[in-house]
Amino acid sequence: MTPKELSSYIKSEALRLGFAVCGIAKAEAVAPEDSSFTESWVAEGKNGQMSYLERNTEKRNNPKLLVPGCNSIVCVALNYNPKAYDENKLHLSRYAQGEDYHKVVKDKLYMLMRKINEIKPVKGRAFCDSAPLLERYWAQKAGLGWIGKNHQLIIPNAGTYFFLGELLIDAVTEYDNPYIENHCGHCEACIDNCPTLALGRNGFDARRCLAYLTIEHREELPEGIGEKMGKCFYGCDRCQTACPHNRFAKPTETIQFTPKQTLLAMNDKDWTILTREQYDNIFANSAVDYCGYEQLKRNIKAIIKK
Ligand code: SF4
Ligand code: SF4
Repeated sequence: MTPKELSSYIKSEALRLGFAVCGIAKAEAVAPEDSSFTESWVAEGKNGQMSYLERNTEKRNNPKLLVPGCNSIVCVALNYNPKAYDENKLHLSRYAQGEDYHKVVKDKLYMLMRKINEIKPVKGRAFCDSAPLLERYWAQKAGLGWIGKNHQLIIPNAGTYFFLGELLIDAVTEYDNPYIENHCGHCEACIDNCPTLALGRNGFDARRCLAYLTIEHREELPEGIGEKMGKCFYGCDRCQTACPHNRFAKPTETIQFTPKQTLLAMNDKDWTILTREQYDNIFANSAVDYCGYEQLKRNIKAIIKK
């Protein structure tokens, strides 16, 4: 089997497994301008309490150190955009409606690995927001789309509501060209709609971002932040909902991302009196459990008392 045939097989199997797009980049060191940009961003403390971004710098800058022997980075994107979504009542970010995406995406990637092994023995590892890997950088290198001013990967004619995943394998494949166009143009809708100025013309400061504050920040929320949160008590989607490229967004077909009835049935009053038992029931197998019951209550309280 030639590298070209292998690439084409991997991509067709990825689509068959439900991924919206698949591209392949050559595993090599990250371009110096991109690695130094991330390092400076962290050195300026803009990562807040996300101390994991301060570790494993060498691996982040070179996937061959993360997975020794890898030659190809298979990049995929899985649509999470929920079918039913009511932003008028207290709610969670779109991506948090269903089962834990780390597991859903990685399970599919390991299925892909098994399919590849049916025709050629390969070794590798799967990742989804679970390793020191510049996911959007590699997705852009693999031709999936461009990184917008909202710092999200934008897939042409599809938008931003996608989880990214990667399979780092030892096989040599045919590599895609990077996506070099940037279709943001003069648009600044994401910047204009960011309620906390986390997103600015000079970049992104996670310490001000509601997604960071509601999920990663373990201490008290800054005074007055509830007024910026609107009705969303976990994450924030405004730099995505404002993006004109999301007019192309379609609802997900991935069954695991269908919200549970118990989640859909919650109203504002229910959230304010959420019990531990309800929390355990609603968020079993959910990535929201990373945040924890007490922190979720903290977030809800910030909105209620505004
Ligand atoms: S997630 Fe919300 S707070 Fe964070 S940059 Fe986007 S719009 Fe701003
Ligand atoms: S809102 Fe506009 S500037 Fe921001 S990412 Fe989308 S297209 Fe780019």
